[in-house]
Amino acid sequence: MLRITELALPLDHAPEALNQAISQRLAIDPSDLLQVQVFKRSYDARKKNTEIKFIYIVDVEVRHEAALLARFEQDTHIKPAPDTHYYPVATAPEKLTERPIIIGFGPCGLFAALILAQMGFKPIVLERGRDVRTRTKDTWALWRKHELTPESNVQFGEGGAGLFSDGKLYSQIKDPKFYGRKVMHEFVRAGAPEEILFVSKPHIGTFRLTGVVAAMREEIIALGGEVRFESKVTDIRLDQNGNNHSDQKHRVQGVTLADGSRIDSRYVVLALGHSARDTFRMLHKNGVFVEAKPFAIGFRIEHPQSLIDTARLGKYAGHPELGAADYKVVHHAKNGRAVYSFCMCPGGTVVAATSEEGRVVTNGMSQYSRNERNANSGIVVGINPEEDFPGGPLAGVELQEKLESHAYVLGGEDYSAPAQLVGDFIKAKASTQLGEVEPSYKPGIKLVDLASSLPKYAIDAIREALPAFGKQIRGFDRADAILTGIETRTSSPVRITRDHHTLQSLNTQGLFPAGEGAGYAGGILSAGVDGIKVAEALAIAMLEDRGEV
Ligand code: FAD
Repeated sequence: MLRITELALPLDHAPEALNQAISQRLAIDPSDLLQVQVFKRSYDARKKNTEIKFIYIVDVEVRHEAALLARFEQDTHIKPAPDTHYYPVATAPEKLTERPIIIGFGPCGLFAALILAQMGFKPIVLERGRDVRTRTKDTWALWRKHELTPESNVQFGEGGAGLFSDGKLYSQIKDPKFYGRKVMHEFVRAGAPEEILFVSKPHIGTFRLTGVVAAMREEIIALGGEVRFESKVTDIRLDQNGNNHSDQKHRVQGVTLADGSRIDSRYVVLALGHSARDTFRMLHKNGVFVEAKPFAIGFRIEHPQSLIDTARLGKYAGHPELGAADYKVVHHAKNGRAVYSFCMCPGGTVVAATSEEGRVVTNGMSQYSRNERNANSGIVVGINPEEDFPGGPLAGVELQEKLESHAYVLGGEDYSAPAQLVGDFIKAKASTQLGEVEPSYKPGIKLVDLASSLPKYAIDAIREALPAFGKQIRGFDRADAILTGIETRTSSPVRITRDHHTLQSLNTQGLFPAGEGAGYAGGILSAGVDGIKVAEALAIAMLEDRGEV
């Protein structure tokens, strides 16, 4: 196969124009073009008021490939296509009785379990929350009726934190082995739209994701794996490491569940997500190496989607091929803080994302259609342990808890969120009345002064950043745009550090920290990719321990 990059076509091109453009680019007869696969399609909106174009990367099968490659040897946009297929690294021995345990069934645990199951390792997945259907009802109860179920909500349950989300499926991680393709192919096999394989910023939206996750769970079970819901791991059993060849102090032996039952295994994946604060504390108490890491805090901001579309797409705003536009903004404030947009959700809603009683935290989600009235994103300030929360591995967790509890009080103590209009926030005065922008947060907002909701350095930096963003996107700082508080769970406040090669905990053999909660992913795609990596490392470790590698 050949790969052609930077192939530009008009936005409204006819389907057959792509093959014509390829034949022309390669200067071949159309009958010599045997097969075409779009690898990626993005758009170039730099000339938004004259012509936005699609830019394709295509993989093509042609007659006389070697001769063509030789002819285009000097052309950097025509090269052999890389092999992006996924090849399993191991196969489980037939009589293997020991089964790996995976704690958590978000995207990381899901892919770790799927890959292990596909290799024959029959994993046992332990998920504290409920299955997708029940969990959806529980989550809606918070959004509609102010009722939180602490073990089944936006953060906890089948599908993990990414279930009620925009389902954005892109990431900036380095991926030399194309694990991201494997993630996408598995999603498509389980029912996601095929276009996620080639559009440059794919997303699948909340409702489609729920069906996909349930289908993947069924495959894991069909391959001999087990998925147990309402199975919270409350303790981990460690032994002194008898293996003199390792620097690791302990060896994991198994886990204890909330109902007191125990499951033995010397191979445990920690795919906990960033909200498993009780589990982080349990691991730290047991001596597993945990350290504090940077994260970010801020608010969700909402604007009419039409404002963003016009700013980004000019005369093409609303074009059906382009959909709702997104944005990315960043500002370096005078006090040294970076303020940036995070998890932008075009045509979506702001959601209540707490997993703990008496706390308020926000996030964003959308449906596949992205046709809600507002655009939203987190406007957040990066913070770090050295400067902002010194005091030990769990100091970031404690800071999050303190801020989220205060936001609950500011919001009126019924899971409503505190909110303020951008104009009032910049002028440092409490809001009393909404403008044209209607906040989408459910179960509701309470207009307040947000000044006390975050540390002063963060408030100062955001106050300075909003007018600067207004210069990048006209109207971004309009007076009636809404800030809803607070955003604290942008990433994990801890890292459960692992060895670079074995992917096992620095001091606990057999324990594989993974995904967002362990500090090794940020987002659905990167969490899935990390799940694959850890599954491979675990399979190899199991075979090595049996002397089979
Ligand atoms: P999680 O998805 O958090 O999964 C961890 C799982 O572990 C949970 O199901 C939890 O119940 C379980 N667990 C924790 N502790 C225990 C225990 N002790 N015992 C048993 N089970 C346990 N990312 C994107 O890429 N695109 C988006 O559009 C996007 N939108 C988002 C919208 C919202 C509302 C939220 C909350 C997040 C969004 N994210 C998005 C982030 C994304 O969801 C996460 O990065 C991703 O889910 C992390 O995957 P994970 O598997 O590492 O952890």
